[in-house]
Amino acid sequence: MHHDTDLINIVAVGLVVAFVLGALANRLRMSPLVGYLVAGIIVGPFTPGFVADQDLANQLAELGVMLLMFGVGLHFSLKDLLEVKAIAIPGAIVQIAVATLLGWLLAWGMGWSPINGFVFGLALSVASTVVLLRAMEERRLLDTRRGRIAVGWLIVEDLAMVLALVLLPALAGVIADSEALAEGASLRSMAGTIAVALFKTLVQVSLFVAVMLVVGRRVIPWTLEKIAGTGSRELFTLAVLAIALGVAFGSAMLFGVSFALGAFFAGMLLNESELSHKAANDSLPLRDAFAVLFFVSVGMLFDPMILIEHPWQVLATFLIIVVGKSLAAYGIVRLFRHPKGTALTISVSLAQIGEFSFILASLGVALDLLPSTGRDLILAGALLSIVVNPLLFAWLSGREARLAADAAALEAAEVHEPDAPAVPDHVSGHAILVGYGRVGSQLAELLHQRGVPLVVIEDDADLVARARAAGLYAVRGNAASEAVMLEAAPGRAGMAIFAIPQALEAGETIERMKTLNPSITVLARAHSDAEVRHLLEHGADGAVLAERELAFSLAEMVMSTPPYRPARQPGGEGSTPAAA
Ligand code: AMP
Repeated sequence: MHHDTDLINIVAVGLVVAFVLGALANRLRMSPLVGYLVAGIIVGPFTPGFVADQDLANQLAELGVMLLMFGVGLHFSLKDLLEVKAIAIPGAIVQIAVATLLGWLLAWGMGWSPINGFVFGLALSVASTVVLLRAMEERRLLDTRRGRIAVGWLIVEDLAMVLALVLLPALAGVIADSEALAEGASLRSMAGTIAVALFKTLVQVSLFVAVMLVVGRRVIPWTLEKIAGTGSRELFTLAVLAIALGVAFGSAMLFGVSFALGAFFAGMLLNESELSHKAANDSLPLRDAFAVLFFVSVGMLFDPMILIEHPWQVLATFLIIVVGKSLAAYGIVRLFRHPKGTALTISVSLAQIGEFSFILASLGVALDLLPSTGRDLILAGALLSIVVNPLLFAWLSGREARLAADAAALEAAEVHEPDAPAVPDHVSGHAILVGYGRVGSQLAELLHQRGVPLVVIEDDADLVARARAAGLYAVRGNAASEAVMLEAAPGRAGMAIFAIPQALEAGETIERMKTLNPSITVLARAHSDAEVRHLLEHGADGAVLAERELAFSLAEMVMSTPPYRPARQPGGEGSTPAAA
């Protein structure tokens, strides 16, 4: 193979295989992550056939990590965390401690050094945000109290891992130094070196945080707003990428903090201003592509022989992730007097590991703090736990269904937390409003004033909160998902209004809604003639072309303003016939 096309090979082949297997995994009701990882194993050096360049894969993975961390920063919400801090903070800390201890014990059993065991255990202790969010979304749990606790818990774990990523290189430096000093080094001087290194890292990180807070908080949102003002989407996307990667790179050069931490902060800063946050979020499909390459490159590192050579260690790793961590989480949630259902949901949703564990494991191997067997065990454990996770959730909903059927008043009260359904049973003949953005929220206000009963479906959590604050029933989620749509009770609805700008997505959803309730009237928003046609073809009863209405309104305004306002006719008080 020609060397100068290596990069193209890995991106093209990697993405194609990942796409095929990701789609297959989705079809099998598994997380697409499993598909991406298996795709990596296939293009990796341990399986026959095409072998991608490992060095390039690692660099692409690093890019993927930076963009993933940028995304974590973008979604990091102090408010969400504070809401559930009473349980999430101690819970996460206890769980991390238990998982690290168990991992350390297993490593000790395998004859590894304590520091290897520590890194190994730490990598097992943090759950995957990608897996958890997807599982919660599918099961409509994000909006419930237990969902919020699980997410807050995960944020704490993420923060702990961010800290670990920063401190590991320092730790590695200290260990290398103390080895160089050899036996002569006393325990005290070693502790001293560790303290100095930690102190140095903390100073660097604080310096970085301070600069970011002072400069970044103002400059970054300001820049984005200016660029948004130019109206060029391309420039805007570029600005977002330049900020994410530029801050990551610059901070690594200037302050010696990791790429990942720099990117995390860049994301957090964008998070500050609502406008730039939303926009940045919209314009990062690139992040997803690189995140996929990250999972592919992690899969490439995986040697399937580990399953044959060390089956018991794989099993033990898997049990630590699925049983050990879950018992710890269950115990602490119960200790805080939350109901059994909550404790089980939280345990199950965190009984897996993913991207952070891979990042930590790769860093550990690179720094000589973890043998490569450790990374293989972590990968095997992650793969197994991600595959098993949906089964655990299925078991959980089976349990709840049984309990609910038993209808023992006490138990039922415990299972059904005060998370009221989005739409009470007595609501019917309502209008379903999909999208509560610029168009939907205005429309809702007008209709609400006129007494039309409304149920909003909206993807964005903040907007859902706003709709509820305005006194409307609101379902959070993508209307394209059947579970979400059913929650808005389309069977009892009289009308549905699609106030979202994506006509293609709306078309599919309208078709589905019409199958559920053939007598429902559907109106939709469009931005071109082609979209109007598409919507009508897919069952919409009417579609409004936004730009045409805008033109009408502007024409009306022009004709009612001097100098084009027709001169006052005697008797006719400032009438504007042209606008009619
Ligand atoms: P705007 O263009 O400002 O009216 O915003 C459209 C709104 O629709 C945004 O707030 C989106 O979050 C929301 N939205 C877009 N697609 C969907 C969907 N399929 N389901 C629910 N909400 C959606």
